[in-house]
Amino acid sequence: MAGLLFGTGGTPHSAKTASTIDGIERIAKLGLGCMEIEFVQGVKMGEAGARLVAETAAREEVKLSAHAPYFINLNAREPEKIRASQGRIIQTARIAAICGAESIVFHTAFYLGDPPEQAYNTVKKCLEEITEQLKRENNRVWIRPEIMGKVSQFGTPEEVLNLSTELERVAPCMDFTHWHARTGRFNSYQEFTSILLQIKERLGRAALDNMHIHVSGIAYSKKGETKHLNLKESDFQYIELLKALKDYDVKGVVICESPNLEADALLLQATYDTLLKTD
Ligand SMILES: [Zn+2]
Repeated sequence: MAGLLFGTGGTPHSAKTASTIDGIERIAKLGLGCMEIEFVQGVKMGEAGARLVAETAAREEVKLSAHAPYFINLNAREPEKIRASQGRIIQTARIAAICGAESIVFHTAFYLGDPPEQAYNTVKKCLEEITEQLKRENNRVWIRPEIMGKVSQFGTPEEVLNLSTELERVAPCMDFTHWHARTGRFNSYQEFTSILLQIKERLGRAALDNMHIHVSGIAYSKKGETKHLNLKESDFQYIELLKALKDYDVKGVVICESPNLEADALLLQATYDTLLKTD
């Protein structure tokens, strides 16, 4: 099996229906290797449904992850909003575990004008309560804060790597596209490898053997991400990224979040395969 699996954020457009099970079956038919279940509008899947998802994924040999609801802010002003955010992450992890997913990803917080260090401490405390609760439940899903694309959002590589160092079972969701949109840079082989090196230095080689990556095309302004685009409509240098991933022998999953989902996931996979062959 390849070191890197490619798949879609959500059910592929060409699936029979938008259901997760049809999505998994379509992923397998397309020859892709993974899929992220999108609980972005809320975790509406129950335990029985999750068990069916797990059976399908095992049969089709599709690796699963889950994206938590968008309505999360671990730096919210109101304690009840923080509690609700924690609850959504925990609920995502519970259903994801039954689905047989190995990771959940989420948008951690907004700074809301706070100094980043202050937001970091608040986020860390809230996240620690989550990981402790999941540990009590024997839930072994990886908890992955995402690198975010807007300057108003918590989630630089530095912040996410710090959380990953300090908290058990926390690891990065490395969204290379978001980081490019946020900085206007980080769009070349050398810049991509600098991030991989940083991950290796901070978290060890094991982190590069178990990476969770988001890729898409993107449009951006001074404030960062404005919207996702298909790869070929965007300036994102995905071939450079794939070369860097190949040269550092990165393993794990690459989830494509372009509007055309499976078309770009297949493009990424085919490009990566070509790079492997021309080595
Ligand atoms: Zn996301």
